[in-house]
Amino acid sequence: MCPQKITLGELRSSGVRGLLIYCADYRCSRSTVISADRWPDHVRLSDLEPKFTCKACGHRGADVRPLFAVDKPASGYPAHG
Ligand SMILES: [Zn+2]
Repeated sequence: MCPQKITLGELRSSGVRGLLIYCADYRCSRSTVISADRWPDHVRLSDLEPKFTCKACGHRGADVRPLFAVDKPASGYPAHG
């Protein structure tokens, strides 16, 4: 499955509450984390990508990835990277 086709409703149903936004300019690669709560369930990640403008370099467009829960320590689950 292409992750860009995933809707926010599907992400929320799998426990994702936030989104990682990466600057689409690889020379900048600034990233930030935002809450996904502000958009309705039918919105896809690919719908959001053109909406972002990088605050660091002003580049329009971003890579949007689901932010899987990292705030709870997962015992027995090694964290790589
Ligand atoms: Zn940037």
